[in-house]
Amino acid sequence: MKILLIEDEEGLILTLTDRLESEGFSVTSAIDGEAGLALALAKNFNLIILDVMLPRKNGYDVCRDLRQRNVQTPILMLTAKGETIDKVLGLKLGADDYLTKPFEVMELLARIEALLRRAPNTDQFSDASFEFGDVSIDFRRAEISRSGERVDLSAMEFKLLQFLIENRGAVHSRDHLLDEVWGYDAMPSTRTVDVHVAWLRQKLEENPKHPQFIQTVHGLGYKFVA
Ligand code: CA
Repeated sequence: MKILLIEDEEGLILTLTDRLESEGFSVTSAIDGEAGLALALAKNFNLIILDVMLPRKNGYDVCRDLRQRNVQTPILMLTAKGETIDKVLGLKLGADDYLTKPFEVMELLARIEALLRRAPNTDQFSDASFEFGDVSIDFRRAEISRSGERVDLSAMEFKLLQFLIENRGAVHSRDHLLDEVWGYDAMPSTRTVDVHVAWLRQKLEENPKHPQFIQTVHGLGYKFVA
């Protein structure tokens, strides 16, 4: 699940990004309204967290512009204390929910989950295909090619690659990957993950010994970076 965070307080960006990524979200951030609007129009996100007081373009204008351009991504607005009337304005302009600063991260997570449950799942559509380096993937057909040549992956290699890409940017421990990709009932060892990662690198990385995309995070696990 991809979240766009439009917020100009750097401390808050760091805290929220860290926390949301540890919950398995992939987070992209923008520090002003113009940049946030451009990102929201250029890419698909499952949810947008939008601060009201932003440099260059305020949150209301960003919200209104997005809805006018038919971007239907759920928007959670962050308002400062005392901006009560502004909450109503935000909802009128098309925001789905709002949260008043300062807030507990648990509260934010609960709101995010509620919004995502209500929203149509656009994830499948936006991730129907993906490209990195000289590799292109068609997820619906489960086909991969590299510089136009077809690459054969086993079912598990494909599942692992898809999981890493869908949750790119976040670090995944070997245990977490076993649970997510192999399933709770399977009992392979964490070594299985290492072996599959090595095979994927062999097939997809230009230099498997110095992988550019499927990276090792020492002591923690793996992450996909594009
Ligand atoms: Ca602000």
